[in-house]
Amino acid sequence: MQTIYFDNNATTKVAEEVLEEMKPFFCELYGNPSSMHTFGGQTGQRIRHAREQVAALLGCDPSEIIFTSGGTESDNAAIKGVLAAYPGRRKIITTRVEHPAVLTACRELENHGYTIVELGVDKTGQIDLTELEKNLDDNTVLVTIMYANNETGVIFPIDRITGMVAEKNIVFHTDAVQAVGKIPLNLAKSNIDLLSLSGHKLHAPKGIGVLYTRKGTRIAPFIVGGHQEAGRRAGTENVPAIIGLGKACELAAKNIETENKKVKFLRDKLENALLKNSPDSRLNGDKKNRLPNTTNISFEFIEGEAILLMLDKFGICASSGSACTSGSLEPSHVLRAMGVPFTAAHGSIRFSLSRYNTEQEVDYTIEKLPGIINRLRQLSPFVAK
Ligand code: PLP
Repeated sequence: MQTIYFDNNATTKVAEEVLEEMKPFFCELYGNPSSMHTFGGQTGQRIRHAREQVAALLGCDPSEIIFTSGGTESDNAAIKGVLAAYPGRRKIITTRVEHPAVLTACRELENHGYTIVELGVDKTGQIDLTELEKNLDDNTVLVTIMYANNETGVIFPIDRITGMVAEKNIVFHTDAVQAVGKIPLNLAKSNIDLLSLSGHKLHAPKGIGVLYTRKGTRIAPFIVGGHQEAGRRAGTENVPAIIGLGKACELAAKNIETENKKVKFLRDKLENALLKNSPDSRLNGDKKNRLPNTTNISFEFIEGEAILLMLDKFGICASSGSACTSGSLEPSHVLRAMGVPFTAAHGSIRFSLSRYNTEQEVDYTIEKLPGIINRLRQLSPFVAK
């Protein structure tokens, strides 16, 4: 059976061009970039090139790129590194819809005497900027707000947010794991101090990421040891993954416009047909301000997990907004924060597309899904028969 992969916000296929670029760095060019000999020096040279490729996609200087092991490490490093650099201030502002890499890190800090303000969102998933403004004060050390939400694709107004934050001389971090490679960014023209990205969301391998650190931003080293990454993140570099990330960024920079158009066309076709053909369905999120590849749809009165299992029988991979943890079904914290009713939050499905999806795959899903919904509704105890 053919696999139809609509779960690209979870992870993406490594691009063939990326894999080809990485291959020599396992058994041929395996030198340590820190070595004095020419053999090792070659890999150091290639890391410098990869750093330039990443910087070109982000519109920043290569010296502002710190390679990490992924989005989670970058988020933790940004938050904890800033707190260590500003020991006198004790308040962090974030949102209720962040990825757990940010939310859990912040909530843990409450146990260490920090005040965490989690801004709420409206029913489209957008934050209230007046609430943000009210909370910015002399005790605030960091504002960390994601660029785009992983579940709904909603994009936050980062330019307006950073304008307000910069005025108060507060450090601003954004988790841009879902945004990088999907929408154009230009950090040189922004007030973002720190930005996290993750390779496996943009067709590079898993286990590689970046913390962009704007020149002059105070942040303590987060892994100490050798001198790698300017002493901020020590440890021998993951050379093949760094080379792969560089190539993935080069591809993204080259093709972002055409791919955006194609992916958005497919996403819209899928979304419109599913909403039209499935009664009691609704879109979650801000229809206008969102990533071109993501749609999050609730099918009321049925379980997202049941839909996923039936889609899986047809080889269709998507993801559900609810997570089955320790025997109890917890609806997504993002949808709950948006005030999505319980019965709809439970039946939410996220489809996230990539440049590798085709119109045929979309048509096949449009053909299969309404039948699945019908069948599950017939079994649902919540639907009047
Ligand atoms: N932040 C966001 C918004 C994400 O979507 C993810 C992954 O799903 C992460 C952080 C974590 O990234 P990684 O898997 O590279 O640790």
